[in-house]
Amino acid sequence: MNEFIDISVLVRQGMPIWPGESGVILDRVKSLDAGDSSNSSRLSMSIHSGTHVDAPFHFLPSGKKIDEMDLDIFIGPVRIIHMLFQDRITSADLISLNLPPDTRRLLFRTKNSDFWKQSPNTFQPDFVGLTEDAAEWVADSAIELVGIDYLSIQPYNDASQTHCILLQAGVAILEGLDLTHVEEKEYDLICLPLRLLGAEGAPARAVLRKCQVP
Ligand SMILES: [Zn+2]
Repeated sequence: MNEFIDISVLVRQGMPIWPGESGVILDRVKSLDAGDSSNSSRLSMSIHSGTHVDAPFHFLPSGKKIDEMDLDIFIGPVRIIHMLFQDRITSADLISLNLPPDTRRLLFRTKNSDFWKQSPNTFQPDFVGLTEDAAEWVADSAIELVGIDYLSIQPYNDASQTHCILLQAGVAILEGLDLTHVEEKEYDLICLPLRLLGAEGAPARAVLRKCQVP
């Protein structure tokens, strides 16, 4: 049995991107087949394509940049919550979970995860996100990281302050996850955002390690 579940999405040309962002370019610039001495590729993408972390600087002018964030919060126990029938995740949904008060990390598996399987895979504006009151509930809790299975924690075309409330409270935001194969239980999260100088976020590889049953 595989000990790890990869919850990152595949970075590739043609992957869904946020409206207005430039698409992913991943192409071969040197090729053994063409007689070059090696294969070598070029990658150009928005930080907010695929699996990524938002740093506070994404929305807060004096917020921390990705290279200033502490890695501790990205590695450790994480609780997966299934919200498979909700169109929005509200504070009432979160209260009804009766989470242990020391919960530090939460990932939401919603119907969004199915979007990654669609072909052709275009941006889906009707994805599930957290309402402002849910963000306020998280900000008032011990939670330091939240994650969601599409490109934003905040619903599309929503004037709410979901991002700002979370980032202001120092809550790390992990977006663009694929939680299709993840059960509703506790795992260990290992997520490493790229160390980009001065950036408002970074692409990340994120995996879950199955917790050992004692
Ligand atoms: Zn983002």
